[in-house]
Amino acid sequence: MSPPKFRVAIVGGGVGGITLAVALSKYPDIAVDIYERASQFAEVGAGVSCWPRPFKVLKKLGLGDALLKKTPVPYIEDEYVNAMNFRRSDLEQGEYLFTLKSKGNNVQFHRADFLGVLVDNVSPSVKTHMSKRIVSYTQSTGNPSEPITLTFHDGSTATCDILVGADGVKSTIRRGMMQDLSRDPDALKKCSAEEYLACIEPVFSGAVAYRTLIHADKIRAVDPNHRVLNGVWTCFGANKNVATYPISMGKIVNFAAFTVDKDLMADAFNPDPSHRQLFDGDWVRPASAKEFTEKFRGMEKDIEVLLDLVEDGSIWAVHLVRNLPVQVHGHVALLGDAAHAMTPFQGSGAGQAVEDAYILATLLGHPRTTLATVSQALVVYDEVRRPFAIGVARGSQEVGRISGLQTGLPFSEIGEKITGINSWAWETEIDGAVKDAKRMFEERV
Ligand SMILES: Cc1cc2nc3c(=O)[nH]c(=O)nc-3n(C[C@H](O)[C@H](O)[C@H](O)COP(=O)(O)OP(=O)(O)OC[C@H]3O[C@@H](n4cnc5c(N)ncnc54)[C@H](O)[C@@H]3O)c2cc1C
Repeated sequence: MSPPKFRVAIVGGGVGGITLAVALSKYPDIAVDIYERASQFAEVGAGVSCWPRPFKVLKKLGLGDALLKKTPVPYIEDEYVNAMNFRRSDLEQGEYLFTLKSKGNNVQFHRADFLGVLVDNVSPSVKTHMSKRIVSYTQSTGNPSEPITLTFHDGSTATCDILVGADGVKSTIRRGMMQDLSRDPDALKKCSAEEYLACIEPVFSGAVAYRTLIHADKIRAVDPNHRVLNGVWTCFGANKNVATYPISMGKIVNFAAFTVDKDLMADAFNPDPSHRQLFDGDWVRPASAKEFTEKFRGMEKDIEVLLDLVEDGSIWAVHLVRNLPVQVHGHVALLGDAAHAMTPFQGSGAGQAVEDAYILATLLGHPRTTLATVSQALVVYDEVRRPFAIGVARGSQEVGRISGLQTGLPFSEIGEKITGINSWAWETEIDGAVKDAKRMFEERV
């Protein structure tokens, strides 16, 4: 067998990193290593939803059938369907607001099922290295063809030709990249060192998520017709909202309630590098039923019924990544939350990681991408993916503000507004982005 055209190291085995590994599996001339800090690939015990645009990517990767076996949602691709329902729940007797219709549905999964299907489809040729936490990397600026050196917490090192940071919101690779950019004379023509360095630390979004799972049978025993047993619901409250949907073939209801701080939500994407939104305390921690539920008491009766069934859960201070000025440098690229962690109010962070992975793999696998041209391929990846994902991140923040009743938007206009914000998910197609990426790259090399 001929040697690989280059060696890609993926740091992080979450949805983004594993999707990239699956997508690169199609290119036998690319060697792939995954480095994951945990001892096994794992997801949190919660749900994850996926809009048509990223779901079509998963179908292109051959994962559609396996995934659809894990969801109670009947999959419809080309018709307008009722995707999710919205209510006003800041009153004792709540009010139905509207049903969002999307072309093709939003599909929901248990996270373990979702990641499990991805992991099962990683090619045996991909080398996985578990319990490997990267602490830094070194890329030669003088000679980009020199291998990149990775250093791990156990003191060991490894090398690669292309490094992809899929290591989540607290990304170590983003830290290294922003530090390098802040010292690179070419990069300093675009932004100041201060602007790059401000992108290292995540920003507190203003949203805190209270996440748990409730067995559908328990809900049915109290109220056999409870609306959360069917369909996706988001319930608006004053500076809070509650989102629910069935997962695990309807056996479990995913319950995510959020408090949303009005000022922090509004200012989270402030571009001023000196603007800091900090969260005081652990970002993720377990919570007792009492602590979990007390913030949401006083919403409509249907929600009280669910709160009474919560046994325990976890509390997450949701953090963002500032809108990056660039997510590639030389032979290093960022992907998923490492590049654009966002609030979950469009259920799209994982979907955007999937899209990043697909476009990046398409460019790396392009026959004209070699060690000599890969930095141009990465620039195209940045130009195609970064503005799109930033748009989704900003839209998610806006939906969070609307569902916390913070924008003053009349109730009669909320349906149209939220539909408009989400419409990228069915009115645009990944094929368009793939075509653009290939054309832009081919024009340059
Ligand atoms: C409450 C909530 C609900 C959400 N709901 C949805 C939804 O419905 N739909 C949706 O699309 N998105 C949703 N999201 C967003 C989604 O969870 C994330 O966008 C997605 O998981 C990001 O995937 P990732 O692979 O980029 O990062 P991660 O899932 O964070 O994976 C990063 C991986 O890197 C590893 N790692 C980290 N540091 C290192 C290191 N130094 N060395 C080696 N490995 C490392 C980690 O262990 C981890 O495995 C939600 C988020 C929240 C908070």
